[in-house]
Amino acid sequence: EDRTGNGSFRVFEPAMRAKLKQRREMELDLKAALDSEEFELYYQPFVDIVDKRVSGFEALLRWRHPQKGMISPGDFIPLAEEAGVIERLGIWCLETACTEASTWPQSMTISVNLSPMQFKSPTLLADIDRALAKSGLAASRLQIEVTESLFLDESDRVLDILREMRRRGLTVSMDDFGTGYSSLGYLSRFSFNKLKIDQSFVRDLERAENIAIVRAVIGLSKSLKMQVLAEGIETEGQMRRLLAEGCREMQGYFFSTPQPKEELPRVIADITKR
Ligand code: C2E
Ligand code: CA
Ligand code: CA
Ligand code: CA
Repeated sequence: EDRTGNGSFRVFEPAMRAKLKQRREMELDLKAALDSEEFELYYQPFVDIVDKRVSGFEALLRWRHPQKGMISPGDFIPLAEEAGVIERLGIWCLETACTEASTWPQSMTISVNLSPMQFKSPTLLADIDRALAKSGLAASRLQIEVTESLFLDESDRVLDILREMRRRGLTVSMDDFGTGYSSLGYLSRFSFNKLKIDQSFVRDLERAENIAIVRAVIGLSKSLKMQVLAEGIETEGQMRRLLAEGCREMQGYFFSTPQPKEELPRVIADITKR
């Protein structure tokens, strides 16, 4: 079928069809992956630079595909959303992360990323309650990370759910702060506990623009009484610079890449004796 009349549709069609087919297959694989236990959580530490201690870990999802090997979440999360498995996958992440964190020292928190789609589920809060109850983890040790895209369709429902999370004692963090397309209006409608400065601003701190942005975000977090964490710290120079700007909690390859749970005692020991 060629509706464009110039033939270009016909040229692209086979390639497009192959792509679509590949996507359908991946979606089917995703649906099966939960049952065949192909998902795993890796954990990356949050470091309190002043106290030289691990303050918590972020859970980062990994998919070990039987044929394709390790697939990164940036590639399969959008597919999981389209395939309608993000809700089940999200519940699995919450329960697995809370259970794992319940074995750590009390002073350490666990951060879980939530996709905006999970907020469409009528059972999100109940799912969180169940993950906490099953694991015995205190609500105060669970942090929820959301991105600005959650506010693209400014709904009161989303704000209500976030407020319920805070009422339960959870920490609610704004991830990748400053990279979304939403306005800052949501900051006056909901008080986040924490802002995470995106790694794109940390990457090139020699640029005056990036230093200015980092300084402004730290200032904003202080005046709105939010904690602040800098992501993507890869060098000692970046660490020192951010510390000098007044940011004490950090995360990045400089401290540790995301690691499987077996490695966490070693990660904690390495960071503590630095
Ligand atoms: P994110 O939440 O912003 O996570 C940080 C990403 O940056 C992770 O990639 C992490 O491995 C990477 N990273 C950490 N430190 C450094 C560094 O120093 N340098 C560089 N270049 N990168 C660093 P990852 O694990 O591939 O995750 C990518 C994204 O996938 C996450 O971005 C998050 O948006 C999403 N994601 C991961 N796990 C989950 C999950 O369980 N649920 C949902 N909904 N999304 C998830
Ligand atoms: Ca995150
Ligand atoms: Ca982030
Ligand atoms: Ca990101």
